[in-house]
Amino acid sequence: MCSGRVDLEFVLRAFSNGMDGVFIGGCRLNECNYITHGNYHALNMVLLFKKIMEHLGLNPERLRIEFMSAGEGNLFTEAVNDFSKKVKELGPLGKAEGIDEHELKSRIQEVKKLIPYIKIVKREKLESRLKNEEASDGFFTSDEIDKLFSEVVSYYIDPEKCQACMICLKKCPVEAISGGKNRIHVIDQDKCIKCGTCFEACPPRFGSVRKISGEPVPAPIPEEARTIVRKSKEK
Ligand code: SF4
Ligand code: SF4
Repeated sequence: MCSGRVDLEFVLRAFSNGMDGVFIGGCRLNECNYITHGNYHALNMVLLFKKIMEHLGLNPERLRIEFMSAGEGNLFTEAVNDFSKKVKELGPLGKAEGIDEHELKSRIQEVKKLIPYIKIVKREKLESRLKNEEASDGFFTSDEIDKLFSEVVSYYIDPEKCQACMICLKKCPVEAISGGKNRIHVIDQDKCIKCGTCFEACPPRFGSVRKISGEPVPAPIPEEARTIVRKSKEK
C-alpha cells in the first residue's frame, strides 16, 4: 500500500535473487494522506541503500525511486521506460561491475545479516523527514557507511561473569543464545542480529554481556566447561 513499507531487506532480496535493477514508485512528497509520510521513509531507505550498494561494489543507479500521483500514468510510463533503458545499459548485476557471482553472493549475505543492525544504528535518520528532495544530497555519505561496516558491534557473554539467570536467553528475538539453568550462556554469532537486547537486559550486578568492536570475538567456551558450580553446592 505504501512505499514506506519497502524495507532495506526487500531491496537486498531482489538483488540477491539476481534482479539487475529495482524501481520504487511512491506518492509525491508532502502529499501523503496520513501523518506517517511513509514516502519520506522510502526516500531515506533508498539513499541509505545506494550507499550500501557502493560499499558492495555495485552501481547505485540500479536502484531508483520516483514520486508521482496515481493520476500521472504518463509520468509513470516515462519513468519506468527510462529506468529499464538505464538498467539495460548498465548490464547484468555484478558481472558489469567485475564482481564474480560467488563473491557477490557472499558480500550480499554479509550485508543481509547486518540489516537489522543497520536499521537500529540508522533509525533516527531513516525516520527523519527531509526538507525537500534537494536535501537528500549527502544525507548518507560513503565514509559514514564504510565506518558503519568497519565498526560493527558484536555481543559476547563473559563466561567468568555469567550467572545463568536466563534473562538474555528469554529476551533474544532470534534464539541466538544457548544456555539453561546453571549453564554459562553463549551467543551464536552466526544467528545474532546485533540488536543489543541482551546487553540491555543482563542485570547490572552481573554485567556479563560485552560489546565488542574492531577486534575479534573470543571463541565460545567449550560445552563441557559451561556448567556453573555454585559455592553452596561445592560444600
Ligand atoms: S544482540 Fe540481540 S540477537 Fe544478538 S544475542 Fe543479543 S539479544 Fe540475541
Ligand atoms: S542475562 Fe547476563 S547473567 Fe543472565 S544469563 Fe544472560 S549473560 Fe548470563
